[in-house]
Amino acid sequence: MVAGESGLGKSTLVNSLFLTDLHKDRKLLNAEERINQTVEITKHTVDIEEKGVKLKLTIIDTPGFGDAVNNTECWKTITDYIDQQFEQYFRDESGLNRKNIQDNRVHCCLYFIPPFGHGLRPVDVHFMRALQEKVNVVPLIAKADCLTPVEIRRMKDRVREEIEKFGIKVYQFPDCDSDEDEEFKQQDRELKESTPFAVIGSNTVVEARGQRIRGRLYPWGIVEVENSSHCDFVKLRNMLIRTHMHDLKDITCDVHYENYRAQCIQQMTS
Ligand code: GDP
Ligand code: MG
Repeated sequence: MVAGESGLGKSTLVNSLFLTDLHKDRKLLNAEERINQTVEITKHTVDIEEKGVKLKLTIIDTPGFGDAVNNTECWKTITDYIDQQFEQYFRDESGLNRKNIQDNRVHCCLYFIPPFGHGLRPVDVHFMRALQEKVNVVPLIAKADCLTPVEIRRMKDRVREEIEKFGIKVYQFPDCDSDEDEEFKQQDRELKESTPFAVIGSNTVVEARGQRIRGRLYPWGIVEVENSSHCDFVKLRNMLIRTHMHDLKDITCDVHYENYRAQCIQQMTS
């Protein structure tokens, strides 16, 4: 799932991550609709293949807050959606046929932080707090092409400090086993040091160094989405679909869903 303020590049990023155009046929909103617009959630399923393994991945795009005039509790629609998925799972699990339950629980929420400010805004703190007991929150610095490498470093340090200071519980990468080889440990260290990932999205393919690549063409040069010296896009994608997919699912099941389930049972018996 992607969440965060409108216009931070959420739809563009999921599109870049999984090569789909999510909003090809989205109708343009007229002014009136825009004012009344509430958070509207859309779900897309894509088939991806990762090292010969076929995966069915569901992407939940949330058009984001900031479009509506009143944004108090803008996270409510999202937390309700997550709860509904838990509720459905809980019902299926308590039913007669428990063998083939379709798991629609939300395993990860990418939360977009704007690159323009000085760290987190109150709304970011509230939003992540509202989500943290329900889903694995992975904070991202959006539109990282707006920042120089030094600014990115500073922004990351700042966001990490504030996450700690405000007691926000974001997804924690698990410690790696002590018997892993040195190369693996190094990669793991780099991954943890790169958080919150700074990302760049693009829906256009440009020509760079004789190759057609996903990038953003500016008068002064080309920003390459999949170049790890430009942003952490590749790290994020690897983490999501290669290295940490199972852990994200495990935490959802063992921690977030268990909490939900315990609350349900408590309510039923009290
Ligand atoms: P959403 O409302 O969060 O889904 O944002 P969109 O994906 O619709 O993007 C909003 C605008 O930002 C569009 O004009 C995009 O082309 C642009 N955009 C998207 N990603 C990036 C990025 O990484 N960097 C920059 N500079 N612009 C971006
Ligand atoms: Mg969008």
